[in-house]
Amino acid sequence: MARPLTATIDLNSIKRNYQYAKKLHPTCNAFAVIKSNAYGHGAVKVATYLDDEVDAFAVASIDEALVVRDAGVKSTIMLLEGVFEADEWAICQEKGFWAAIENQSQLDWLLESKAKIGKVFVKVDTGMHRLGLEPSLAPSFVEQLKESGLVDEVLLMTHFASADDLSDITTMEQLTRFEMVCRDVGDDIATSVANSSAIMKWSVPEGGWIRPGIMLYGISPFAGLTGLQLGLSPAMTLTTKVISVRKLREGDGVGYGLSYKATEDHQLATVAVGYGDGYPRHAQTGTPLKINGVPATLVGRVSMDMVTVKSSSDTHNLLIGQDVELWGNDVPVEEVADFSGTIGYELVARMTTRPRYVYK
Ligand code: PLP
Repeated sequence: MARPLTATIDLNSIKRNYQYAKKLHPTCNAFAVIKSNAYGHGAVKVATYLDDEVDAFAVASIDEALVVRDAGVKSTIMLLEGVFEADEWAICQEKGFWAAIENQSQLDWLLESKAKIGKVFVKVDTGMHRLGLEPSLAPSFVEQLKESGLVDEVLLMTHFASADDLSDITTMEQLTRFEMVCRDVGDDIATSVANSSAIMKWSVPEGGWIRPGIMLYGISPFAGLTGLQLGLSPAMTLTTKVISVRKLREGDGVGYGLSYKATEDHQLATVAVGYGDGYPRHAQTGTPLKINGVPATLVGRVSMDMVTVKSSSDTHNLLIGQDVELWGNDVPVEEVADFSGTIGYELVARMTTRPRYVYK
């Protein structure tokens, strides 16, 4: 029998979550953000399934876009980070990609290449200070793009630093700065500002393009809230099996460094998943999972291929072959992330090719 670790991806959940994002902003078009291999869910599978559903896809860069296009996906694909080299503009024209522009080189390369592009999103830095133009430069960028005759539509775009924190006024400050740029450029310019947290909880400009990423996969961007609690459907369920069982005596240590010590006699299950699969090595003792539907917790350190687990029920008889849910509908990935000092985004995005992937 093969190693039992399986990531089951419910493509219909991703479609429902996309439809939910659109329903929240009926006047907007929506990119389905499928960068980083669709946050670990498989970009080609996800894009193929959603091809007739979405207004367009968004990825980080041209190599990600080409993987999806070369697999036969027809929808427009937008490059959120724009191009990194001059030649990429010609490929954008050939493949029908749209792109963000956030610096002078990207603009110069486009003007020199004379590539014809459907939409270019001028990305403005309204406070995140990672990518984006100084706001005062935006009007001249927009003007040059319009005058070039190379672009069918020029839009303004920005990205929020802290929209996942509802008590942080930075988002309002960024929105105000963005509105000022829109006014400077001309009020009728279309925009793109909202990621998942803004789509779900902030009041963002209507019209234009929203950019849902993590919510498509049924995962919450907000601390202390799960995707299910937000009305989303988790798309990835990570399951495996118990592969060994033993009895621990009070005082016995477990795993590398013997970091967990049993404080009483109890059964211990060894379960087939580890950091070699993408399961977080920093998951702490207490990280939740379920064995045959019964709550259990991780104890001891995560190894490359295995973890060790204690059931939360004294009457639960652990046996080899029992089913384990590591995350999914019954075990929120956000809670596993909390116990690992990270966020749901990272857990799914860093899944490796080692588990079996099943699409339904
Ligand atoms: N837009 C941009 C520019 C991004 O970089 C990202 C992801 O980081 C998204 C949208 C999607 O964000 P989220 O996954 O929080 O919805």
